[in-house]
Amino acid sequence: MFQNRLRQLADRSLTRHLHTLDSATGPTIQLAGRTVILLASNDYLGLATHPDVIQAAIRATTQYGAGAGASRLVCGTLPPHAELEQALADFKHTPAALIFGSGYLANLGLIPSLVARGGLIFADRLCHASLIDGARLSGADLRVYRHRDLNHLESLLKRTRAGRPLLIMTDGLFSMDGDLAPLPELATLAERFGATLYVDDAHGTGVMGPSGRGTLEHFGIEDRIPFHMGTLGKALGSSGAYIAGPTDLIQYLVSTCRPFMFTTAPAPGSAAAAHAALTVIQQDPSRRTRLWRNRKHLFAGLTRLGFRLTESVSPILPILIGEADNALAFSQQLLAHGVYAPAIRPPTVPDGSSRIRVTVTAEHSPEQIDLALGAFERAGQSTRLL
Ligand SMILES: *Cc1c(COP(=O)(O)O)cnc(C)c1O
Repeated sequence: MFQNRLRQLADRSLTRHLHTLDSATGPTIQLAGRTVILLASNDYLGLATHPDVIQAAIRATTQYGAGAGASRLVCGTLPPHAELEQALADFKHTPAALIFGSGYLANLGLIPSLVARGGLIFADRLCHASLIDGARLSGADLRVYRHRDLNHLESLLKRTRAGRPLLIMTDGLFSMDGDLAPLPELATLAERFGATLYVDDAHGTGVMGPSGRGTLEHFGIEDRIPFHMGTLGKALGSSGAYIAGPTDLIQYLVSTCRPFMFTTAPAPGSAAAAHAALTVIQQDPSRRTRLWRNRKHLFAGLTRLGFRLTESVSPILPILIGEADNALAFSQQLLAHGVYAPAIRPPTVPDGSSRIRVTVTAEHSPEQIDLALGAFERAGQSTRLL
């Protein structure tokens, strides 16, 4: 039965495979016996391998064990969890914060906590799969507006019956396009129509804004949006997610949010690692400076070569290809030339918009970026994309 289904996927170039790296994530990795330049990781600041972050994980693991042993509400809340939540609240300038095992879980939990059957959710067409799954789980009706299209969203909002609970949900920085949601305008629409605005800042946290507080800081609207969600597994180099917001919201979630209640607490080492990463982000802005320098270098090079990029304004620099098989072929050529950047295909992106998702980090050297650009040029020529 599954062989048939797998064959159908393969016919559409949509089968996926796991590639095991033989090294830690970093600017270069060991893969199948070779050293290749990695342009695929979301560890934008290189904190997954930062000595302070690793040491914090080791110390917490030594003191509190490899696992928390229970859910947070039973007996799984340990000092690394409480300390991380306090540090996140301080960082985000909110009264409180709550952590989750992952961003996927956080969205599955938070959206049904905010809106239920009878409510109405508006989602950007390109928002992350976990937001859509959270919306489905909530039982609320879902309306999808065209990517970043405020006029479309407004026309949908105008058509709603008065008195219905409304939630607008969006990525702050879109994971597969690298562009930003128009958050100030979305906040204005939310205020006008009495809707709640839910911003998932998985990719913005640590990256966007002068202090790395994310897309809300970037737009200067932190005090207009009372709570926001972000993750700990991307720029923070660990794993997990958080919501930062008012104390009553956090208390309500502790008592009702099922993906918080019915899952084992994050490992103490991973909470301590995220906390240490947060400290580095606040104390060492040079990593963000290097990240943006590298982003500029790679963007200029890819543009000069003539690739078609998305409207990215971030370290996510997707090269638009179109069909899934062409994207796969390009990615394979890149790997042959020493660069790992994956083909992203449906259902992760809409049909006909398969792409190579290229990401750069603070840890790449200018020489590595130049080497990578050489590989892009040769792969582009051999697949007739250039
Ligand atoms: C990666 C991502 C998630 C999922 O977060 P995990 O911690 O990896 O589960 C959620 N939302 C967005 C926008 C993401 O990019």
